[in-house]
Amino acid sequence: MRTNQPRTIYLSEYRVPAFLVDHVDLRFELFEQGARVHSTLDVRRNPDYPERAEHLELDGDSLRLEAVSLNGVTLEADHYQDQGDKLVVLSVPDQFQLTVVTWIEPQNNTRLEGLYKSSGMFCTQCEAEGFRCITFFPDRPDVMARFRTRIEADKSSYPVLLSNGNDIERGELADGRHFVTWEDPFPKPCYLFALVAGDLLLKQDTFTTCSGREIDLRIYVEPRNATKCEHAMDSLQRSMRWDETVYGREYDLDIFMIVAVDDFNMGAMENKGLNIFNSSCVLASPETATDASFQRIEAIVAHEYFHNWSGNRVTCRDWFQLSLKEGFTVFRDAGFSADMGSPIVKRIEDATLMRTAQFAEDAGPMSHPVRPSSYMEISNFYTLTIYEKGAEVVRMIHTLLGPDLFRKGSDLYFERHDGQAVTTDDFVRAMEDASGRDLSQFRLWYEQAGTPVLTVRDEFDAEAGIYRLSIEQSIPDTAGQTDKKPQHIPFALGLLGPDGEAVPLRLSENEADAPLERVLELTEARHSFEFHGVQTQPVPSLLREFSAPVRVDYPWTREQLLFLMSHDSDGFNRWDAGQQLAVDVIRSLMDGENGAVDERLVDAYRVLLNDPALDQALVAKMLLLPSEAYLIELSNDVDVQAIHEARTRVLDHLANALRDDLLACFHRNAGSGDYQLTPEAIAGRSLRNTALAWLLHIGDQEACTLAQQQFDVAGNMTDRLGALRALVNSRFVAEREAALETFYQCWEADPQVVEQWFSVQAGSQQSGTLEAIKALLQHPAFDWKNPNKVRSVIGVFAGQNLAQFHQPDGSGYRFLADQVCRLDDSNPQIAARLVSPLTRWKKFAQPYCSAMKEALETVRAKDGLSKDVYEVVHKSLRP
Ligand code: ZN
Repeated sequence: MRTNQPRTIYLSEYRVPAFLVDHVDLRFELFEQGARVHSTLDVRRNPDYPERAEHLELDGDSLRLEAVSLNGVTLEADHYQDQGDKLVVLSVPDQFQLTVVTWIEPQNNTRLEGLYKSSGMFCTQCEAEGFRCITFFPDRPDVMARFRTRIEADKSSYPVLLSNGNDIERGELADGRHFVTWEDPFPKPCYLFALVAGDLLLKQDTFTTCSGREIDLRIYVEPRNATKCEHAMDSLQRSMRWDETVYGREYDLDIFMIVAVDDFNMGAMENKGLNIFNSSCVLASPETATDASFQRIEAIVAHEYFHNWSGNRVTCRDWFQLSLKEGFTVFRDAGFSADMGSPIVKRIEDATLMRTAQFAEDAGPMSHPVRPSSYMEISNFYTLTIYEKGAEVVRMIHTLLGPDLFRKGSDLYFERHDGQAVTTDDFVRAMEDASGRDLSQFRLWYEQAGTPVLTVRDEFDAEAGIYRLSIEQSIPDTAGQTDKKPQHIPFALGLLGPDGEAVPLRLSENEADAPLERVLELTEARHSFEFHGVQTQPVPSLLREFSAPVRVDYPWTREQLLFLMSHDSDGFNRWDAGQQLAVDVIRSLMDGENGAVDERLVDAYRVLLNDPALDQALVAKMLLLPSEAYLIELSNDVDVQAIHEARTRVLDHLANALRDDLLACFHRNAGSGDYQLTPEAIAGRSLRNTALAWLLHIGDQEACTLAQQQFDVAGNMTDRLGALRALVNSRFVAEREAALETFYQCWEADPQVVEQWFSVQAGSQQSGTLEAIKALLQHPAFDWKNPNKVRSVIGVFAGQNLAQFHQPDGSGYRFLADQVCRLDDSNPQIAARLVSPLTRWKKFAQPYCSAMKEALETVRAKDGLSKDVYEVVHKSLRP
């Protein structure tokens, strides 16, 4: 049992740093038994610090201190205190040079923070507070220094030695060793520091910037991945061009490097000039990666590249401001992905993530504002709220200002704060100053947690030709926050006439040239709007394109939803109407209404399957039924098995009723052979694989044969995995086992593919049982030290395979608790993320609820629990 509660850090306690560091000189001696780090800091007292700080305090974690000297003179032990997590240098002058020598053991670092080894190479992860695991330093983002880094290592094992900036010197050393020195001309916080040493293969290309500078682009990978870099390189070049065109941002160094590593806690990291990527977020070839991974890679390469301006040139003052860089950068990468592919599909995917996962987070025990006001462990705050809701908040500013003023605002922000560490408030102020708009109420989006609920009611006065809309907003209480103020919400709206035509939105009787769509600005708890000159009762199209991250409560009839599904000019709302209709049909089955599935749903899907004039990318999305996770999110007192059964019944009914249409759809989308990543080609593969999945779901023999054929001859991983997934989720046991076996034999040498193979099984309705999951943990390819493997088995089982995970006897929960305890010792960041499926126990019905709580209690009782897991479990168990 943890005896002392970890300290809570508060935004209100922020103070400027007492000392500044202008320059850092690092020398790394890398050996197999460990690494010696020599760090020389040019330190001076911060003139803005309100008093005179006597002692210099530096952060440290798991370091062995070997020596300290000040201005070249070795300090005696009574001149400093090594407190483990702090080095205090006593009574320092106003300005001085401090040298600290530490010894660390990267080869034993399983937390993957600081300097560690992955597949034989040295690499680093310093965000958020990993630099303190390398050397003693003021590890906070508002201390920005220029770094020079010399790396020394054995030349044959580590021929490639990389750090931030430009390589300025290299040479040979005794004993077969060599060195390279790097210099980064841009001051940066230490969380952006990076180092890589290994035997890596280089893929090179160039990019000519808008001002004509030629940038040397380098992707470093293990030699076996030589053929998997092309897509990342293309994505990088497209990102660089896009950031110039859309935001006027030019790259600033002469070299831009990406390194792929297999063991990584997150997706990727934007270290200055040296981005480090999780292999699964950068490596791809059509034979080994699915469409979804191709798109993910494009988005993450762009995301990390865009951080060069939104994050590195302008960085965060403190970690409460994390969304300053993450929310804005996600908004930027979403714009890029939309421009590169299908904007509607991208919007549907983002809204789905918000509504299933972020809304859940915002209603749960870890709920926090986009700018949190306290935390115990900052790693726990790399959340959907910071990233995705943060991006939605920036998107709303974009909607309120319009594209031109938004661009003026971002230009001003980058110009005004270049080289500074700033706050989300500085961002909003730049937007205000550039646009002349008052965003003071809008700032509540950063301060108040919880998802606003808009209750919308309407009434039609046929005689007066007036359509009235009343909108009430309320924001639910969340952990530690009650009585919230109304927020400033952009609410996009259209009205559809009887033939689906857009009705002009006249806010007064004689308004000429009234628009067909409006963004209403909600600022009060209650609004009512009147639209004039409306001839017949219209159907409202509400919150178009998900114009704000809110829930809408409107008493839809199925007729209205069917009408919107086929007529709304807003593609997003066509999709959304289909989702709401399916939700309604599934729920009515749960409500004990023992009746059949509404045939109108079948008819609507039949139209989708058969009308080639429809946007196939949109159709591919519309055919996907709402997920169990979304249905859970919409319910209270959740009975997971009941949701699963009702959804399965609808799926069964649709697949049986539409069997021939699905077969036709499958054949129609057979594909041309060569792999293309256009929205049309992606939609074709998605439709084909959805058809296959549905048909195998109902045990169709012909489809089973088709799936086996597709599995055998597929020219790309999307189709091969689509066939495998359909088989694995089917009752064709022998065929499923044979395909799994063949697949593994074929791909066992490729970790990214093996991860997919694990995921397909861990997510299976048929074979993803607890016993099967336990067997996967014993598989030779499973590796407890590799976060991707842990996520692909345990993460997928507990986070996505809801019907198998939520067993009424609590066995799934106890299993997860055991694995969390096991991982807590080796990698607390991963353990804390993995525990999250248990945290929402209050939302579930009995017996789930008590069993989840019990499992959490066993985690809380573990000896030496990390502060990462402690924070999540403690907050979840609070009354
Ligand atoms: Zn980011």
